[in-house]
Amino acid sequence: MGMQAERRWSAWVNGSEYAGTGGRLFDVEEPAVGRTLAQVVKLNEEDVGYAVGVASGAFEDGRWANVSATARGKALLKLAQRIRDSARNLAELETRQVGKPISDAYDEVMTAADCFEFYAGAANKVHGHTIPVSAPGLDYTLRVPVGVVALIVPWNFPFLITAWKVAPALAMGNSVIVKPASLTPITALILGPLAQAAGVPDGVFNVITGPGREVGEALVKDPRVDKIAFTGETSTGSRILQLAAADIKRVSLELGGKSPTIVFADVDVDRVAQLTVQSAYANGGQDCCARSRVLVHESIAEEYQESLVEHARRLKIGDPLDPDVQMGPLVSAAHRQRIQAFIRDGVAEGAQLVLDPQTIDLPEAGHYLGPAVFVKPPDDARIVREEIFGPVTTVQTFRTEDEAIRLANATDYGLSGSVFSRDLGQALRVAHRVRSGTMSVNSIKSVHLESPFGGFKKSGLGRELGVEALDLYTEVKNVFVGLD
Ligand code: NDP
Repeated sequence: MGMQAERRWSAWVNGSEYAGTGGRLFDVEEPAVGRTLAQVVKLNEEDVGYAVGVASGAFEDGRWANVSATARGKALLKLAQRIRDSARNLAELETRQVGKPISDAYDEVMTAADCFEFYAGAANKVHGHTIPVSAPGLDYTLRVPVGVVALIVPWNFPFLITAWKVAPALAMGNSVIVKPASLTPITALILGPLAQAAGVPDGVFNVITGPGREVGEALVKDPRVDKIAFTGETSTGSRILQLAAADIKRVSLELGGKSPTIVFADVDVDRVAQLTVQSAYANGGQDCCARSRVLVHESIAEEYQESLVEHARRLKIGDPLDPDVQMGPLVSAAHRQRIQAFIRDGVAEGAQLVLDPQTIDLPEAGHYLGPAVFVKPPDDARIVREEIFGPVTTVQTFRTEDEAIRLANATDYGLSGSVFSRDLGQALRVAHRVRSGTMSVNSIKSVHLESPFGGFKKSGLGRELGVEALDLYTEVKNVFVGLD
């Protein structure tokens, strides 16, 4: 284990390793130690054109789209098993490229296998309708694949988010091109040979590597690409939507978040503080669903804040390959600097830093940053409005249910959130009035493979996961047969 990472990685096109035409490479770093982990092929626009041609050819000749849905499902079941068989290796590589704790990485790889199984089972359960139209005849609908789909993935959950997109796209018979984030391309590349071994025909599943600005944009602009599914920053999503407009491409977007946790006065305060730590600092806060914005009833604010700081201080931070570690380093030096700048801004804008990450003992090498807690931030502070994407929480107080909802909705984002209250009527009223794609009541769990996931407002467009994701990867075709 481990040795496999210390080598050169090629892209995966047409069922084999592809080194591109430019002879360029880029480094992938191991954030826990700040050293190069691997070198990966940096493709160019011409290479993207080649990969799209391959995927397009594979779609046109029907080598996958015309295979029976049952057979496609069986191949995806095999792929799930191959992922489980490689889970330890995949998890170790994920940990080494992202810096996330190995226990989390292992869970994510196993959940990715579950995701392939879910959509394997769905493949032959998607069907059309017969419709009683007014003209004499038979009218029915078919659900057909969209064609060539480009799947663009971020660095925070590289393997899992790849699975969320690839599994339904393949289940529905599309040809796929994955573009992983340049900080974390390795685990997606391993999926190439695993898909091949599971019986996915060559050319149907491809992975291309290189900078988003160059390789990602070339993919988005290629007229032979029919659909783009993107997860990443809101500004990148907006750019992709504009580029896709030229060809009326189908686009789905999973973007940023600034999710609230709303805490009413009747809860077990210590328990909620403990859950807040899990929901705000897991994956170092580099999570689109991170509950980084706490709104707490003023009558329990002091008790809650003390408890939150105490639990955050107890987080075990260190080598992410240690199975007991709960928080590893951040993904890169640049990302840590960005978050440190947010913390300085928060202090300058008048928020009180009641847990200063500089008071936490951390390993010397690597891009570590301890947890931060701010209280009493001004309502318009940057740390309250913008997605920080790191281990920083803000705590604001409210007096009434209406005020809590107003504060919760005072953001451009609308991805997820939690509400804690023993009064179920109150909890559900709040859950329904917060403008976000998912809400958890007395829980921090917001993502389930079986349920739709996606954002309101600037958090995105469309719903992934659940049976809803199948809509993203199919077109509805209507057929009328005249019988007179
Ligand atoms: P980015 O938007 O920077 O990058 C995401 C992906 O897009 C990467 O593969 C990147 O490639 C590529 N890319 C960058 N620029 C372009 C472009 N102009 N055209 C096409 N592709 C491009 O996001 P991050 O990787 O920084 O991810 C963090 C963000 O993702 C956060 O905002 C977070 O909230 C969001 N996110 C949302 C989730 C959701 O489900 N709503 C889930 C997880 C994260 P490269 O790496 O080479 O630049």
